[in-house]
Amino acid sequence: MTPSATPHQTRLRRRLADDGGAGGVLALAVAAGVLAFSLLALTLFSVLPSKAAVHAAADSAAIAAAESASHSTAERSCAIAAEAASLNGTTLLRCDVSGSEATVAVGRQILTTTFSVTARAAVPRAKPTAANGAMPTDELVQLVYPGVRENPPVSLRSDVAAALVQLLEAYHAETGDYLPVDEGYRDLAEQQRVFDQYGWPRAAIPGTSNHGAGTAVDFVNPPVVRGSQPHGWLAANASQFGFEPLTDPDEPWHWDYTG
Ligand SMILES: [Zn+2]
Repeated sequence: MTPSATPHQTRLRRRLADDGGAGGVLALAVAAGVLAFSLLALTLFSVLPSKAAVHAAADSAAIAAAESASHSTAERSCAIAAEAASLNGTTLLRCDVSGSEATVAVGRQILTTTFSVTARAAVPRAKPTAANGAMPTDELVQLVYPGVRENPPVSLRSDVAAALVQLLEAYHAETGDYLPVDEGYRDLAEQQRVFDQYGWPRAAIPGTSNHGAGTAVDFVNPPVVRGSQPHGWLAANASQFGFEPLTDPDEPWHWDYTG
């Protein structure tokens, strides 16, 4: 048995992927519903050729075990796999659970031989989102471009850094000058320092700032103030590069990347 997904497996995976994160409990409930339906369908439609039925039973057992493994013990997950295998007229021969991945083998006596199939299933995990102000360094890119503060250096989330460099290059190509960049990503300690200095709403509550997500950039102020030439250029062009101004509170030097 290849690990490739059967249609119902694919559906289950997609549902779980879509409902990741906070919707996890709902996702599991939905998945359980899909699973119950697929087990029922397999039980009712026993017109499948014998070998195909064993393949389907293996898939069902693997999915059942993987789904269970995401919130239960390996022992319990294998008991559920055995139940799923039995419902589909097969016997569970092997069950290994590791994390939220399950590998099972099921078998059925066909004529004089036991036909067995191994299947593997995994419940995809939502990609962990970096905590605000505690982003892994490999998700950040240090900006090196004329006008960008060098010490301490300015970092941004990698896609935001790429977009900002394009913006900076466009500004330079049009004006011959360089936009001065003051700040990008801030870790929690730095956001706390800024918050202590300026207070809310001038500084976001630590843990909630777009600077902590690596998506906000502060230009040097002045010269990037309302009515200035560089601010006028940003107001006219920054949105083409995915940057929007912060207007509440009104901070002409602060731009957020919205893609
Ligand atoms: Zn800012």
